[in-house]
Amino acid sequence: MIVREEKAITVRSQVKERLHHKILIVGGGTAGLTVAAQLRRKGVEDVAVLEPSEKHYYQAAWTLVGAGTYNPQASVRPQENLIPRGVRWIQDYAQEIDPERQVVRTQNSREIGFDYLVVAAGIQLDWHKIEGLEETLGQNGVSSNYRFDLAPKTWSFLQQLKGGVALFSAPSTPIKCGGAPQKIMYLAADHARRKGISKDTQIIFGSAGTIIFGVPEIKAVLDQVVERYGIQTQFHHELVAVDGLKKEATYEYTVNHPEVKANPSAPRPRVTIPFDFLHVVPPQSAPDFLKQSPLADPSTPLGWVQVDKHTLQHVRFPNVFSLGDASSLPTSKTGAAIRKQAPVLVTNLLDVMKGQEPKKQYNGYTSCPLVTAYGKMFLAEFLYDNVWHPTLPLNTQKERYDMWLLKKHGLPFMYWNLMLKGLA
Ligand SMILES: Cc1cc2nc3c(=O)[nH]c(=O)nc-3n(C[C@H](O)[C@H](O)[C@H](O)COP(=O)(O)OP(=O)(O)OC[C@H]3O[C@@H](n4cnc5c(N)ncnc54)[C@H](O)[C@@H]3O)c2cc1C
Repeated sequence: MIVREEKAITVRSQVKERLHHKILIVGGGTAGLTVAAQLRRKGVEDVAVLEPSEKHYYQAAWTLVGAGTYNPQASVRPQENLIPRGVRWIQDYAQEIDPERQVVRTQNSREIGFDYLVVAAGIQLDWHKIEGLEETLGQNGVSSNYRFDLAPKTWSFLQQLKGGVALFSAPSTPIKCGGAPQKIMYLAADHARRKGISKDTQIIFGSAGTIIFGVPEIKAVLDQVVERYGIQTQFHHELVAVDGLKKEATYEYTVNHPEVKANPSAPRPRVTIPFDFLHVVPPQSAPDFLKQSPLADPSTPLGWVQVDKHTLQHVRFPNVFSLGDASSLPTSKTGAAIRKQAPVLVTNLLDVMKGQEPKKQYNGYTSCPLVTAYGKMFLAEFLYDNVWHPTLPLNTQKERYDMWLLKKHGLPFMYWNLMLKGLA
């Protein structure tokens, strides 16, 4: 007890600046800015966004960047131009959240008090969990669309590909945009077809998943796409190591692999796949400062902020809400999901501020624009428990050119001009 108090005194004496805001939003990415903009539109005063980055990225474009059909510079804008008018931007990292004392401590020794907290700090890319990966990323034919600087590398490696094995990974953890590991694979397959090297190129999907997609209506379409391209699927395979110089990827069988199920106490078998090109999607988790905070869901080491899946209110701290990739919401983590989560969160937060119970309910809606070729996309929309939920007055259970145009032009326009401004 005494030790704890001493530690608290030391931490407080190091504080260089004390601030206080009625609503503090941690993270100014897709979710943080959308919520901030909606709060301002409702006339809420004294809102601050804690966000370290000077740049804001439209990450959904990186699939197209990796396929050479989108200018990477069009996916990034200065953060200062996007912070809604009337909202204070505190450019710093959250380091520790103390929901009991209602303060957030930052890397630059600030202590920010809050009446209400919205946690929107996104997801952490755990590159380090794949042995040898960090040393070789961006070289030796190894890339990933999950980073702004690497997505253009994906395209240059695909252009250099003359045949051989093009390998695509997907981890067992939840990830942002569950469809992204396979979208670039389909575009790469189409690129190989257009280049006339399909016959010499074996495309392999080495994935820790158990099937191509969890929603039966969407799986049915994707199974045909996989067959059309002659893609070899290897499910129950977790990428654990990459040797860039030897161009070898090592996979370990997951707990769901039939061999592991048959003999669970035996060491997990490993297989090595030689590759000419490797697209990696790393394992992902909540940012470390959230994992270590009292807000984290204790049922998983991944550290998601534990909120009610319908109201988005924290299950233990009623003045705390969370949405987007950092939250425990059991749906596919996408910007499209945030578009539906944000208005629910804002309404419920305002109710709680008035002393009422949160009433508005989020149904798990998410969507994934599954590009399957240059000029083809079909929109996978679904709710909690993988319930297919098409919302457009079109047959979206088929690959379409108009949906491709939506992905390439419509959705980026909507993101920058409507969603981040609190209008969609
Ligand atoms: C390759 C790829 C393709 C995708 N495709 C699609 C798609 O087609 N459709 C779709 O809807 N979604 C897609 N997504 C997913 C979508 O981009 C994310 O789900 C969405 O951006 C999540 O929003 P967020 O606000 O939760 O996190 P982010 O937008 O990542 O924002 C998190 C913010 O928190 C900040 N932050 C981090 N640590 C701290 C800290 N310690 N303190 C304060 N702030 C912090 C970060 O700087 C960042 O600005 C894709 C993502 C990728 C990578």
